Amino acid sequence: MKWYKVIFVSVFALAFSVVTQASAMKSVTVNSHQVPLQPIIIQGPMPIEAQHFAALLKDVSIEKTGSFVFYKGTLNGYPVIVSQTGKGLENTAAATAIAIERYKPLAIINQGTSGGHDPKLAVGDIVLGKRVVNIGNLKTPSKKATEGSNSLTWIPMDIMASSGSAGSDDANKIRYYEGSPELLAIAKQVKYQHGKVVEGTVGSANFWNSELDRITWFHENFGTSVEEMEGASVAQIAEAYKVPFLSIRILSNNITNGGHYDPNTATECQAFVKDVMVKYIETLQK
Ligand code: SAH
Repeated sequence: MKWYKVIFVSVFALAFSVVTQASAMKSVTVNSHQVPLQPIIIQGPMPIEAQHFAALLKDVSIEKTGSFVFYKGTLNGYPVIVSQTGKGLENTAAATAIAIERYKPLAIINQGTSGGHDPKLAVGDIVLGKRVVNIGNLKTPSKKATEGSNSLTWIPMDIMASSGSAGSDDANKIRYYEGSPELLAIAKQVKYQHGKVVEGTVGSANFWNSELDRITWFHENFGTSVEEMEGASVAQIAEAYKVPFLSIRILSNNITNGGHYDPNTATECQAFVKDVMVKYIETLQK
């Protein structure tokens, strides 16, 4: 190439790159009024625990990934995402991590049905999770062959006690996750017609306990008000990312006082959580 051609091509390339960079710069200019609001995530394990709330949202779009379904919409003009997590700790931990990474939520509410551990609570009452605890994190004492097994002698295990072995005695303690004081204070103000609303301890494990002595053991040793299969996994992941979290659980059954399983409680719980969210959104819009 002749020297004047080289200069011409270089000048042209330089001018072109300045123009494209300038237009690229223009397109990333951020107007502070356009920063999207951080959504609130409402989780429910089973369809009966999520779809009532999803139907209360406006302008809904559905996002699916794996077995997880997210109903993205608005409630009173504020972005709310209903997450149908599936049952159990693993599904719910994964749904929580996906939601946090994708949607950068302001807060997460895990809600749904539960089984009573406290004889003073009736089917239809609601427990606000002041604390959540994984009641499947347990160690057994040592026993020889033929000595059998007795779950009432098992020892609590805190898997977050250290990065070392959970076999050491340092891990022999109960790990509680605190519910967000701000969300708890708002939930306590909300009126509810189908029973009592109390603050309490929500215990989670992939376990349906129907042995009354074992239920009493959890109630006395862990302070559990109810058991279910999800809350503790959400609390653990929400804490890892420092996202405010609250568990809100209705009793759908309570064998400690003869309370029969009533699936309609799932809808009553969602209606209550909706009222809590309306109040929360009012505080955000002030
Ligand atoms: N009994 C229901 C099945 C519920 S499966 C039926 O026949 O359709 C368990 C789900 O219900 C979990 O998501 C768990 O969070 C909740 N749950 C309600 N009561 C429970 C209890 N007593 N023990 C454990 N989980 C319970």
